[in-house]
Amino acid sequence: MTRAVGIIVAGGDGRRMKSTLRKQYLAFGGRPILGHTLSAFLQCRAIRRIFLVVPETDLAYCRDHILSLFDDRRAIELVPGGAERQASVYNGLAAAGGLAEVAAIHDGVRPFIQADLIARCIAGAEACGACMPGIPAVDTLKQVDAAGIIEKTLDRSRIWCAQTPQAFRYDLIREAHEFARARGIVETDDAALLERMGRPVRMIPGCRFNLKITTPEDLALAPAIMGLLQAAGPRDGS
Ligand code: C5P
Repeated sequence: MTRAVGIIVAGGDGRRMKSTLRKQYLAFGGRPILGHTLSAFLQCRAIRRIFLVVPETDLAYCRDHILSLFDDRRAIELVPGGAERQASVYNGLAAAGGLAEVAAIHDGVRPFIQADLIARCIAGAEACGACMPGIPAVDTLKQVDAAGIIEKTLDRSRIWCAQTPQAFRYDLIREAHEFARARGIVETDDAALLERMGRPVRMIPGCRFNLKITTPEDLALAPAIMGLLQAAGPRDGS
């Protein structure tokens, strides 16, 4: 089996949540958001090791309040984050160097990820180098100028909303990050760095419940989503 690692980025300051505790540590269903996310990665049999990237100032907090939730803490390594998401991923990739053939990079604040979707992304990366989940757009999408005036309507039939985990052959994603750093390119996800190099990334169907918890409204929805997923039953972890 390919040696796959999870790189879970949770190094942001979570300002849009308007809470004193960073959003990745807020709880629903009796567990912090990050606890749910880590649990899904631990359930995925393809994942050998997890690199959890957190703000440098929070390393001790995460050891005491997040890693302490799990029996097998050896599987999870804390890594200090960077100024932007991309820098946090880079630190995670650097920590995983030598251990990984495939890296599955995931937003820590997507706690509804299921082990089977992680496994499908890893299988896609094994097959074609880079694979990520997404959802076909359902709303009509407008591009708007700085004054709020619509410039154009996008062709919705070809638009997908990007999710994570995004899985890559390790050497490929490391090369893409080095390529971006050398040119001062900063993107909001990892697939975009491969797009910049002209390399293909396979899109596979994600899950509507794989929400990125960003605002207080998202957190208010979390217990309902958790209930729906529990009612649907456990998913295969392979
Ligand atoms: O800001 P955005 O919503 O794109 O953040 C997505 C994920 O990236 C979050 O889990 C956040 O904690 C993480 N992040 C990070 N390091 C940063 C900024 C964001 O790991 N400097």
